This record gives sequence, C-alpha cells and structure tokens, in this order.
Amino acid sequence: METNTLPILAAINIRGIRLNNLAMEDALNAIDGALVSKTPVQIAFVNADCVNLAARDPAYQATLETMDWVFVDGIGMKIAGKLLHQPVRANVNGTDLFPRLCAELGQNGRRIFLLGGQPGIADAAAEWAKNHHPGLIIAGTQNGYFGEAKTPAVLERIRATRADVLFVAMGAPRQENWIRKHAAACAATVTLGVGGLFDYYSGTIPRAPQWMRYMGVEWVFRLLQEPGRLWKRYLLGNWMFMARVTTDRLRQQLSGKSK
Ligand code: UDP
Repeated sequence: METNTLPILAAINIRGIRLNNLAMEDALNAIDGALVSKTPVQIAFVNADCVNLAARDPAYQATLETMDWVFVDGIGMKIAGKLLHQPVRANVNGTDLFPRLCAELGQNGRRIFLLGGQPGIADAAAEWAKNHHPGLIIAGTQNGYFGEAKTPAVLERIRATRADVLFVAMGAPRQENWIRKHAAACAATVTLGVGGLFDYYSGTIPRAPQWMRYMGVEWVFRLLQEPGRLWKRYLLGNWMFMARVTTDRLRQQLSGKSK
C-alpha cells in the first residue's frame, strides 16, 4: 500500500459517502469562515460505525448527502482511506474538535446552544465549556428526549436564543435526520451533529487515556465501558466495515485490470 506517494485530496469517497478530507485546523478555519460570512452550514462526522449504518439505512445515507460538510472521524476511516488509495488527512472527530472550537468561539464571543443527551447532561457540558472558555456565551441547552409534540416549542426556543452554533448530540442517524429537518428553523449559522459528546464533557462518561486515542483504539476503551450495548457496534461492526471496504478495494482492482 504505497499511499504515501498518493496526493491527499480535498474530498474523498468511502462507500458512497462524500467526505471533506480536511486537517483539524482547516475544519476550524472553515467553521470560522462560515460564522464570519454568516453562511449557514450543516456538519456531520462519519466514522466506521456511521458507514455501516448508512449501508443499511438509505435515508441516513441520503441525509449525509445533504450535509454541507462531512468530516472524517476515526482510525477505521484512516485504514479505509489507505485501502482505497484515498489517503485521509486527519482524524477530525467532534470530541477533539469541540474544545478547540470552543476556544475559537470564546475568543469571538459567540453564542452556542447545546441540544441532546439525558436531562442535565447538556447543562453540565455547557458548564465545562463556559469554565474553560469564559468568552463563550451559552445561549441555551435542551435535553434530547422531548418528543415530537414538543418539537415546535423547542425549535422556537432555540431560534429565540440567536445561537451562532448549535450542537446536536442525539447519536447517528437521529441527529443528522433531525438537523436535516429542523436546523433551518433554529437559524444557527453552524449546526453540527456530535453524537455522545456531551456525555464526555459533562464528565458522565470518561474518555480513553491520551495514549489510546493516539493509537486509534479509543473504541476498545468504550467497548470495555459498555460491552452489553457496544459489542455489536464495535466487534461485529468493525468486521463488517472492513469487509465492505475490502470488497470495494477488490472492485477497484478488478476495474483497474479490465481497463
Ligand atoms: N440521545 C438523545 N436523544 C435520543 C437518543 C439519544 O439525546 O433520543 C443522546 C444520548 O443521551 C447520548 C447520545 O445521544 O448522549 C448518543 O450517544 P451515542 O454514544 O449513541 O452516540 P455516538 O457518539 O456513538 O453517535
């Protein structure tokens, strides 16, 4: 696999999902640019589990196509990029991006709204953000279990806060579908789907130690924390993902030979 010699493209495609292949710094700059120009953008993060989800949920796959930017999340995607001769520039996941984005938003006095998680979790994550980045303005928070009937009231409340950035933490694909349907009504300039992020920053779920994150095995740590819920996602899911990517690689090789 001589991917070192391959150019790093600005956009790559893994299993039919178009991904913006950015460095973390570029992603942050892009978000800042959208805020400065007040250009509404919807952002998703896609990891190996999301690719598996999209393979069996065409509605989610279609929703991802409507996102303005889709960032490449996790070691699985990096391996896929190598196998498919589309080198991944960086692991741009929401959990690592969040503190850096908060720092940038804090410097500019931006307003953020945190939507999702069990009651109290978004408040605790907001407190973390405010304590670490005092310039930030917490426009509001809302748990992610309010049901369809209360949705219009929630949308109205978010809109009234005039948040610049809306973080939606309801897990994939729920959050992306929610963003597709409702982000425009919320009127934040930047809306991101960020999975279980508030659980980490509220201190509810500890994050893997730095060395595990560096080695790309944060998923092992997560699996050990909640084996009952996550074994399918990671043990079965990782194999499924590799099988899917390997099939695409074989297809690539076969079509290369037939030319
Ligand atoms: N969640 C929510 N509303 C729902 C279902 C889930 O707010 O109806 C929250 C849940 O409390 C958790 C997050 O969504 O904080 C999903 O976490 P998970 O680890 O499943 O997401 P991932 O990061 O793996 O996408």
